[in-house]
Amino acid sequence: MSLFAYFCPSFVPQTALGDKKGHRNFKLFNFETIRNIVKQIETTRNKKMSKANTPYNKICLYCHNEFVAQKRTTKYCSHKCNQRAYKQSKRESTHQQVSEKELVKSSAIKTNLLLEEIAASIKSIETEIHLSLRPYLTVKEVGTLLNMSRTSIYRLTESGKLPLYTLGNRKVYIKRSDIDNLFQNPKTIKA
Ligand SMILES: [Zn+2]
Repeated sequence: MSLFAYFCPSFVPQTALGDKKGHRNFKLFNFETIRNIVKQIETTRNKKMSKANTPYNKICLYCHNEFVAQKRTTKYCSHKCNQRAYKQSKRESTHQQVSEKELVKSSAIKTNLLLEEIAASIKSIETEIHLSLRPYLTVKEVGTLLNMSRTSIYRLTESGKLPLYTLGNRKVYIKRSDIDNLFQNPKTIKA
């Protein structure tokens, strides 16, 4: 036992290695301590061995082939599969981001078109209200109100059905009441 301690000093507690004068003193040597240390070393080594020898039967998440993993958390059979899976997931996330962007863009365009339509109809309603309330209208405004061309309006004024008024400037006006008078004599349309 003392020989073992002599040849394997690393296994021996410091007190067993010698006194202050440098004389080795194997009387302090404790067999139990040595045995415990050896036991610990063996346990550690066995643990490492058993860990290394415990295979995990796995199926690669990329190529779906069976393989034996050393770690429970291993997902891919090889570095190649790992890399390919990483690239694929990256590609997929990029695709998703692009399609989300496109969706947002198209819905924004749709919303804009809708808003433009609403704005246009509000404007036309405003124009109609504005025109229907005014006692004097320009030829263009009468055209808008009656949904007729300027030529048609001028034809009405030339025939005397719709008198024109000037106020000294170059502009001509039509009286609102004259327009209403156009609709005084209904024509019966035979079906
Ligand atoms: Zn694989």
